[in-house]
Amino acid sequence: MRFDIVTIFPGFFESVFAQGIVRRAQTEGLVEIRLHDLREFTHDRHRTVDDRPFGGGEGMVLKPEPLAEALESLGIGGKGAREQATPSSRNRSTGTPAGSKEKQGTRVILLSAQGRVFTQAVARELAGLGRVVLICGRYEGVDERINELYCDMELSIGDYVLSGGEPAAAVVVDATMRLIPGVLGNEASGEFESFGAADAEIDVDVEGVPRSQHGAGGLLDYPHYTRPAEFGGLETPQVLLNGDHAQIRRWRREQQLRKTLKNRPELLERAALSAEDRRMLEALRDTENF
Ligand code: SAH
Repeated sequence: MRFDIVTIFPGFFESVFAQGIVRRAQTEGLVEIRLHDLREFTHDRHRTVDDRPFGGGEGMVLKPEPLAEALESLGIGGKGAREQATPSSRNRSTGTPAGSKEKQGTRVILLSAQGRVFTQAVARELAGLGRVVLICGRYEGVDERINELYCDMELSIGDYVLSGGEPAAAVVVDATMRLIPGVLGNEASGEFESFGAADAEIDVDVEGVPRSQHGAGGLLDYPHYTRPAEFGGLETPQVLLNGDHAQIRRWRREQQLRKTLKNRPELLERAALSAEDRRMLEALRDTENF
């Protein structure tokens, strides 16, 4: 999968993409990240990328011409032209990215505080594509015609305002690339983390070694513990030390429900819950004054 990032600060990404899983995914050829310096697409002596807003007001706006030129240099035509040229290569958001061999389609994304909120579901959607182009705004934002002419979607990473789209692009790349098959050691682990697919199979009652159940069913992950067994006067919950896999699985599921109920109760409305889950939830509500 290929990411193209258009930015006035390509240096921002140097350390971000040179560590850990993102780095490994690149060296293994699973992910390619190309940075494009917007100033390379200017033609004046000062390499001007911004200008004052029409209508007055604070700040500066990223000019449309360098952005358009950068996108065209990447083979990204205006939306109208792309729709005609490749009618089937856009909006390929259906199907399961994990395990899917099909890697086609390009999505051009404007990072914007006014965008649709980036979630794990959007990350899954993007992970099924062959190419994602990310445009990083700066100053007061990007001339709206770039959005209208070239962008398939505006994405926000949350309800706060950043000073540039670069941290947002890093977040989108990170969360998306780890869902590409082969990037994480364990193929399935992305599915079972916090915000795992809401329809992920619930197997709380299955026998055997407890599989990672992180986030299964659209819940938050359960708490994790490692050695030492006692730290800062706090003991690791006994159930995790006794080797009873069925009990461990049940405890973890209960903890997922507890965390979700406490921190993100709205997620429970869309979560896939078994009858046993519902019983545990009722008990939690009764005992813990949620
Ligand atoms: N005037 C804009 C903020 C501009 S911030 C507003 O009030 O909405 C400058 C740039 O930072 C934006 O163009 C965008 O690319 C990026 N940015 C800011 N907040 C963001 C967020 N929550 N998600 C994604 N990108 C964001």
